[in-house]
Amino acid sequence: MQHSLLIRNALVLATLDAQRREIAGGWVMVRGNRVTAVGGPESVPAEAETVIDASGCVVTPGLVNTHHHMYQTLTRAVPGAQDCELFGWLKRLYPIWAGLTPEMIRVSTHTAMAELIMSGCTTASDHLYIYPNGCRLDDSIEAAADIGMRFHACRGSMSVGESKGGLPPDRVVEDEAAILRDSQRLIETWHDPSDGAMLKIALAPCSPFSVSQDLMRESARMARSFRVGLHTHLAETVGDVAYSRERFGRTPAQYAEDLGWTGEGVWHAHCVCLDDHGIDLFARTRTGVAHCPSSNMRLGSGIAPIRRMIDAGVPVGLGVDGSASNDAGHLLLEARMAMLLARVRDTGDGSGNPAALGARHALELATRGGAAALGRQDIGHLAPGMCADIAIFDVSTLTHAGALHDPLAALLFAAPAGVKHSIINGRQVVCDGVLLTVDSHRLVETHNRLARELVSG
Ligand SMILES: [Zn+2]
Repeated sequence: MQHSLLIRNALVLATLDAQRREIAGGWVMVRGNRVTAVGGPESVPAEAETVIDASGCVVTPGLVNTHHHMYQTLTRAVPGAQDCELFGWLKRLYPIWAGLTPEMIRVSTHTAMAELIMSGCTTASDHLYIYPNGCRLDDSIEAAADIGMRFHACRGSMSVGESKGGLPPDRVVEDEAAILRDSQRLIETWHDPSDGAMLKIALAPCSPFSVSQDLMRESARMARSFRVGLHTHLAETVGDVAYSRERFGRTPAQYAEDLGWTGEGVWHAHCVCLDDHGIDLFARTRTGVAHCPSSNMRLGSGIAPIRRMIDAGVPVGLGVDGSASNDAGHLLLEARMAMLLARVRDTGDGSGNPAALGARHALELATRGGAAALGRQDIGHLAPGMCADIAIFDVSTLTHAGALHDPLAALLFAAPAGVKHSIINGRQVVCDGVLLTVDSHRLVETHNRLARELVSG
């Protein structure tokens, strides 16, 4: 018999299910790694092997992060990269990242995942696109297994260095045949195609300005033949669009379309400068977008047309983006940023629109939206049969005092809380605000030592 876990007495259970039910006094029953039932105070199950009392708490589906570069937790707030736009920021950081080691990948993945989990996130995607000094995607995959997070590991790549007109220095780019060989090895070694998978692989050439069209096309072909996801950066800035027009004679959306980069299971980070054709194309083909509001603000990239994308039917999820351009890996904070940033986007007459994105919709982007962008049907809401990924936020604290007229909205409007408890795949990984799967204190010490070594070269 599988282990039973009951979460009960929630101040509000936000199921994010098809009816978007919010249940005062709600409960969730879990057996093994699946939700078996949800309900209200009239029907609380009598017992379970483990019972979590969620009094004073808002219970939500685990949040989904659709874009990250976890290694960048080693290079947060680096002087000289604090006030640059995208290309200048990358040029400052590439030489530092060239010093990454396998240990640094493992430790920074632990750190980034610990931070995400403490913010209510239970599924994360990571885009690792630089492999110096023997680093492998396997290093982050093993780290995810240690910490117990549901993981979409993206085999990123860069193949066009400065000497060929790309942005990265030649010494950090890889040979394209080797990239494709390693991509296939990773899929065959690690990818779990099943419903409820804890680990999936996606192929993820880094960006139009760091890989060739051939590699984009071949990656799409391989991803389709193995039925894995496809991920990249697209239309992040005005400069990014200009590069695409000059070098390829196409908009980023046309570039994506021509190379086979649309469809279910394909998701693009940023899309700040996605034009009307691109929005229609992505909606029609169910191509996902990872919206990264903090990073877009940090780098001055602009305000993505999220409201228009949502209205058109584009699957939009949220991403914290890499920690050198956020520099917070807090997904609830990111949902709050998405809500606020959507409101200041110019509606055409110089004014914004405070109704552009509500709290519930922002939470939906962080849950159902992220699941849709990643092409998953088994996470993102709480209902019988879904994966048991559950976040429990205590709102009886100072932060939310006076906001309990609407505790769910309070999660987004008030300062972002951390989780009190977190369940991933039926397993409790945070209890009373303490992460159970890694020693956070030792992790921070090791991480800071490695960060110093990396940046001082
Ligand atoms: Zn990114």
